[in-house]
Amino acid sequence: MTLLRLTDAGLYCAAGDFHVDPWAAVPRAVVTHAHGDHVAWGCGAYLCASDGAGVLRLRLGPDAVIEPAIYAAPQHINGVAVSLHPAGHILGSAQVRVEHAGEVWVVSGDYKTDPDPTCLPFESIRCHTFVTESTFGLPIYRWPPQAEVFTEINGWWLANAEAGRTSLLYGYALGKAQRLLAGLDSSIGPILTHGAVEKMTAAYRRAGVHLPPTSYASADRRRGQVARALVLAPPSADGSPWSRGFGPSSNAFASGWMRVRGARRRRSLDRGFTLSDHVDWPGLLVAIAATGAERVWVTHGFTGVVVRWLREQGLDARAIATRFEGERDEPDEIVEAPETGT
Ligand SMILES: [Zn+2]
Repeated sequence: MTLLRLTDAGLYCAAGDFHVDPWAAVPRAVVTHAHGDHVAWGCGAYLCASDGAGVLRLRLGPDAVIEPAIYAAPQHINGVAVSLHPAGHILGSAQVRVEHAGEVWVVSGDYKTDPDPTCLPFESIRCHTFVTESTFGLPIYRWPPQAEVFTEINGWWLANAEAGRTSLLYGYALGKAQRLLAGLDSSIGPILTHGAVEKMTAAYRRAGVHLPPTSYASADRRRGQVARALVLAPPSADGSPWSRGFGPSSNAFASGWMRVRGARRRRSLDRGFTLSDHVDWPGLLVAIAATGAERVWVTHGFTGVVVRWLREQGLDARAIATRFEGERDEPDEIVEAPETGT
């Protein structure tokens, strides 16, 4: 009998009678973060990190029962100690530590070890069993220093501004857009946002995250080209009628997937910037080793490659299935607020 096991609804702790990131409606969910591939609708209650409660509320609506927990403070659920610890992925992203009868498990959720001014840094937690994501679990995925990436992004924006082109920068509306925002040089020009990005950015600001000023790219603003503007929008807006209203423009996507040649070309992008909110291959191996875990369950991504590598190191590793494989183009299916025309 293990402390957590995989059921039809996801990872389940029988001793505490709760699920971690279930993919079906269950009575009690402990949630690592608010991305759509980690949150199921209709659960009886959701335990999450207190700084993630605002963005989770945006996803789940006013009626969901959300129980915010302070980081590292154990909650006792049917005698099982559950605590949340920063995962460094997006605002409020947490690893879930579960302890019972001397056994400690940690479920990472999504995480990264690179610094990010919009969320708390990843903390390494010792455990017997570590359940890790592996979105970018291939040796080709190695992230360049993010200062270099932001220099490239701001250079691209400046060149566009001087050539009279609008810069359309695509990134996930929850997490990536705010991290981009924190690294943009707002002295170059105004920053406009798609409705999905604006909504999440407002939630970040309410949570106390300092970000440069933005304005919503309303229909009027889209019709009259805004000089020197950079527009932050979710990837799903690329090529849509929405994105065609900005006059002459250059488009770019910021994502870990841009590390691979061809990913940019396939999307007909002018530029691709390698910026990920997931751990890269070297970071993944360091993070796993730092837990001291003897058993590792690998999910969400290139599970086979990571499991093989860990077994070669003598660890008890296995892949666990998920309803979701890898990161979808748009994990946060936020519908844009209706246009008011102002
Ligand atoms: Zn995520």
